[in-house]
Amino acid sequence: MAEKKLTVKEMLKINIRGINFIYKLIPWNYFLGFTLIIVWVLIDYWTYIFLAILVDNIINGAAREVLIRNVVILVGGHITLVVLHWILAHYYYYCGSNVWELANVQLNRKIMDMDYEYMESKAIQNLRRDIDSMARDNADGGGLNKLFWNVLPVISSGVNILIMLFYTIYLASKSSIVFAGEPAKAVLVVFLFIAIFALLMALALYKNNYAQKNIYKKNEEMLPLFRQIHFYTEEYISTEKCGKIIRMFQQQNLLSYYIESLFSKLNGKVNSIGRLDETRNAWSGIIETVFSGLIYFILGVMVLNNAISVGSVCLYAGCISRFLFYFSKFIKVSTELAGNTKYVKMYFDFLDIPNKKYKGTLPVEKRDDNKFAIEFHNVSFRYPGSSKYVLKNFSIKFNIGERLAVVGKNGSGKTTFIKLLCRLYDPTEGEIFLNGIDIRKYDYKEYLSLFSVVFQDFKIPALPLGQNVAASVEYDREKAEDALRRAGLSSLLEKLPDGLGTPVYKDFDKDGVDISGGEAQKVAIARALYHDTPFVILDEPTAALDPLAEYEIYSRFDELVGTKTAVYISHRLSSCQFCNDILVIDNGKAVQRGSHGSLIKEKEGLYYKLWNTQAKYYKTGSEAV
Ligand code: ADP
Repeated sequence: MAEKKLTVKEMLKINIRGINFIYKLIPWNYFLGFTLIIVWVLIDYWTYIFLAILVDNIINGAAREVLIRNVVILVGGHITLVVLHWILAHYYYYCGSNVWELANVQLNRKIMDMDYEYMESKAIQNLRRDIDSMARDNADGGGLNKLFWNVLPVISSGVNILIMLFYTIYLASKSSIVFAGEPAKAVLVVFLFIAIFALLMALALYKNNYAQKNIYKKNEEMLPLFRQIHFYTEEYISTEKCGKIIRMFQQQNLLSYYIESLFSKLNGKVNSIGRLDETRNAWSGIIETVFSGLIYFILGVMVLNNAISVGSVCLYAGCISRFLFYFSKFIKVSTELAGNTKYVKMYFDFLDIPNKKYKGTLPVEKRDDNKFAIEFHNVSFRYPGSSKYVLKNFSIKFNIGERLAVVGKNGSGKTTFIKLLCRLYDPTEGEIFLNGIDIRKYDYKEYLSLFSVVFQDFKIPALPLGQNVAASVEYDREKAEDALRRAGLSSLLEKLPDGLGTPVYKDFDKDGVDISGGEAQKVAIARALYHDTPFVILDEPTAALDPLAEYEIYSRFDELVGTKTAVYISHRLSSCQFCNDILVIDNGKAVQRGSHGSLIKEKEGLYYKLWNTQAKYYKTGSEAV
């Protein structure tokens, strides 16, 4: 979180952007909000103005018809305004009740569209979480929703204060009657009044702002606590995986110790926020009382000197009561909004994270024969924030339409090679070419659509099976069924109650189907097959299986992909022995290449060593698999 103090200009800019942003999410609110402010202000003054007229009418013995007309205007106007206010407020708050949800949709979209490398940044993950905590977990927190709920009150109370100020100055100017023949004194009274008002306003703002700053400071101190509580309660103790560890190692007391201390710290912060809030209210109360005393004093002097009518006293007394109400409200809400600016900024900071990746415009050549050529030319790569090269001067070429197996020890850089090929990352140095053109020059989405990858840590979300396979709400049912059958899920398909519409897992639907790890793998493979892309990549999605099962899946998959280009990754050499083109990676370097038959003959090579080491663990008969 940036600690730089925001200037007033920056604060205004951020809040105006926030208001515009919210009102664009809900366009009706421009009209509703504007009309509401007018009605809001009118509603108070309508009553006071016509009440004053009526009192003067009665004292001055006005005609019956005039009295009746004014009563009708007073009551009729008031009822109309109240009804109008009720309707407008209903729609305004109805529309506004989902401001945060709509804003959250934008955040989620952003997190899915941002450069992949940001996914691994803790700072960015924390920013996302903190924005959510500030808006949701933190009762006194803020962000865009706080801006929405406070923007109308701050404008309407500001307008009310201005109107009241105008009236009070007018009232004070009447002191010319009290100081008959001494206009200089009358002017002095008006100036004195304005000066006292400005002084009290400044004092109230200063005191409130000070308290508000401390309140937000406490709020901020709560953010890391929320993060930790979230981790312990949701990501650790509530998961099946950790539930086993908790029981086996009897971690209950250890975890309870941390959870209790976190909640107790949180409680301490909430209490101190409460105390700060009370101090703030006490200061507003004192200032309010001093100010109202002053106005009533002026009013009393006016009446005693017959400077104003009795009707006007009603008007001013009413105005004063509203003024005091709005004065406190304005001070509270405006200082809250000033402090809240930081959290509105946090939201925009997240949305404004630039995508650094260069995204070209060249269309990818559509080839019916799927003949694409890929070349890694002197590619070196370090993960962002790391000084260690994972790939170093890595150069390979492979002709597409063929098969490539990439083998090597765990951590040698195989997955990183795939991530670079699929442009999840760009090389730190060197280039990757597709058909002789740097892949950065191609239209990013078009380039990505060349690949279907089944990653080691593939995930199948709890969505209907068909949508899962197609990665789309609407999809070709026949194609989805065909992909599932080819992936070996015919029998699962037969027994699903709602066919492709059956949700995977029971997380959100009791009629969902629980699938095994092996079936999930096949769904992930079906997803790759459905997309019918020129490249298919298996990046050890089978690591949890035994070597024989992995070999079977890889070789079966090889038959399924037909004429497409397939890249197989494995640390088990046996799984890829069917492949004619095997690339051996070691320590981020391409060290050997050839068929199983030729590589096994290179007795000094890594392949031979690895093969023999691994064969010890899973020899079946004379053949190692
Ligand atoms: P393989 O697929 O061969 O097992 P990887 O390509 O996954 O190897 O990893 C190669 C090296 O890069 C490993 O040392 C690993 O720790 C490191 N590495 C992988 N991902 C990241 C990351 N996101 N940030 C930093 N280092 C990483």
